[in-house]
Amino acid sequence: MIGVSPRDLEEEERGFRGLTEAIERAETIAIGSHTSPDGDALGSELALAEIIRRRWPGKEVVSYLADAKPVPRHLRFLPHVDELREPDGVVSAPDLFIAVDLSVASRLASARSIMEAAREVFVLDHHPTEHPFGDHGFTRPEAAACGVMVLEYARWLGVPVERDVANLLFCAVMTDTGRFQYQNADSEAFWAAGELVAAGADPSLISLHVYQSMSLTYIKLESLVMGRITTREEGRIALSWVLWEDFLATGAAEDEAEGLVDIVRCVDGAEVALLLRQTPEGEIRGNLRSKGELDVSKVACALGGGGHAAAAGFTLDARTIDEAGKRVLPLLEELVDAG
Ligand code: 5GP
Ligand code: MN
Repeated sequence: MIGVSPRDLEEEERGFRGLTEAIERAETIAIGSHTSPDGDALGSELALAEIIRRRWPGKEVVSYLADAKPVPRHLRFLPHVDELREPDGVVSAPDLFIAVDLSVASRLASARSIMEAAREVFVLDHHPTEHPFGDHGFTRPEAAACGVMVLEYARWLGVPVERDVANLLFCAVMTDTGRFQYQNADSEAFWAAGELVAAGADPSLISLHVYQSMSLTYIKLESLVMGRITTREEGRIALSWVLWEDFLATGAAEDEAEGLVDIVRCVDGAEVALLLRQTPEGEIRGNLRSKGELDVSKVACALGGGGHAAAAGFTLDARTIDEAGKRVLPLLEELVDAG
């Protein structure tokens, strides 16, 4: 077994054996991941589907989106993306539902009904979670991306990783590690990247699609957000916001806005970054990032959300950015003061 991180191989063996036995019991398999899908969610889900088809050609495998929203523009180039189905309410119950990159059932959105109808649910994930769901699963919060775990599963099964799968998993690892720059970019993530490039992944092509193909309307939105960045607590907190009107004014699509918090985190000296975004549903979505040791998932959890120490999110039932700010900022200030 190839691998470079000191991961618990016994636990992995149990996890992968459990997944394999669940697949072998099933004739029909559905795979799903979280709403507002990112590169790890779609890359891991589509790659796992291909790996299962390759190993068990007789099984029927269907990959689902969590809801009817379009695939984010920058991920539409992914191989097999056209196979993703929207949950349309008339699904027949699958024997097995595999949830990937998902730590709370609610983030499955409309696809939750498929999971609930399934005979058995297996969760393959890398988020720390306080609300486990499903019949069984394998969760490894130390994994940089779910895509790393999917690669390890393919290796464990002895299934060769083909070019399409390599591109899917490279995209998963690249995006979840912020182009191999975040705190989770560990030796295992680089090991996975090396293996995937050797298997045919094309990093420059993937980054061309993901990071260098923004619409001009999105760049205009980004410049608004950039212009609003302010800091608190002597520069240790950087924040900005985006209104629903800004999407209308610039013409940018909502699904392009996932990366906006990455501009906020660039401020020198900032330890945590916050982006508040008004949604068309009249809620406020918050993205939190930590550049060092501070654990922003504590703040997200306190607001009903979740995530990792370095990247977390939440949704607030708040009318205005101001109102949301009054709930989030005291918690963030407390976090940086305590740190
Ligand atoms: P993002 O800010 O990119 O939406 O999310 C950052 C991380 O936090 C991701 O790993 C994501 O899965 C997690 N996350 C974001 N929003 C929520 C939420 O509302 N609930 C939970 N449990 N996790 C979230
Ligand atoms: Mn992930």
